[in-house]
Amino acid sequence: PAQPRDRLRVAVQKSGRLGDPARELLASCGLTWRESRDRLFLYGESLPIDILLVRDDDIPGLIADGVCDLGVVGRNVLVEHHLERGAAGRPASLREWRQLGWGACRLDVAIPEGDEWTGPAQLAGLRIATSYPQTLGRWLRENGVEAHPVVLNGSVEIAPRLGQADVVCDLVSTGGTLRANGLVPVTTILESEAVIAGPDHHLEDGRQEIADLLLRRLDGAVQLRE
Ligand code: ATP
Ligand code: ZN
Repeated sequence: PAQPRDRLRVAVQKSGRLGDPARELLASCGLTWRESRDRLFLYGESLPIDILLVRDDDIPGLIADGVCDLGVVGRNVLVEHHLERGAAGRPASLREWRQLGWGACRLDVAIPEGDEWTGPAQLAGLRIATSYPQTLGRWLRENGVEAHPVVLNGSVEIAPRLGQADVVCDLVSTGGTLRANGLVPVTTILESEAVIAGPDHHLEDGRQEIADLLLRRLDGAVQLRE
């Protein structure tokens, strides 16, 4: 069991697409902070809320292990984590506490430009490059297709050009990166946006009250933007 903590700890992407908007959102909730020397922690000053700066992929695990209470992360990362746990026979432990309405993107299958798209069945036997093997695997099963996922942690879109894969399953917002690599998105397997992730149970040691206060302010801040 995690050691008792009376301050809320929120995991936020250190750099990347969601880091700055997440910090802006927390600032708009009245949170002020000072940065630790190693730039890993932001110590909350106005509220008992600290921010841990990490890679987005680590956020679900940090919450599941009780190291952090909440996190700002893309639904795509949360769903992949959830399916990974399920595949390992472990129960779900996280849920979306809020949808934030930004950081929107899709997990799409994309095929070489000029190829005809007739539907999921044409992927049978193909090598599909992706960073989301569980989410892709679920979609393939739902469609009764057997293919070969090629798991890559970055630069998925160049895999077909390198001869590493036939098609890709990758995150897309405008499609510009795919197009630049001669690929076109043909079908969406997950719609994503930034969310507040938290455990599927109440927090302890008084942290639920702090979380409730933060969520009330957050709901106000999100409403103001609409
Ligand atoms: P980290 O170093 O933290 O692992 P990363 O390279 O995995 O960073 P980013 O590229 O910063 O992650 O993307 C973070 C999140 O932003 C994605 O998981 C996704 O939810 C969201 N996102 C929105 N638009 C896009 C896009 N066009 N491509 C990739 N991710 C996007
Ligand atoms: Zn990442």
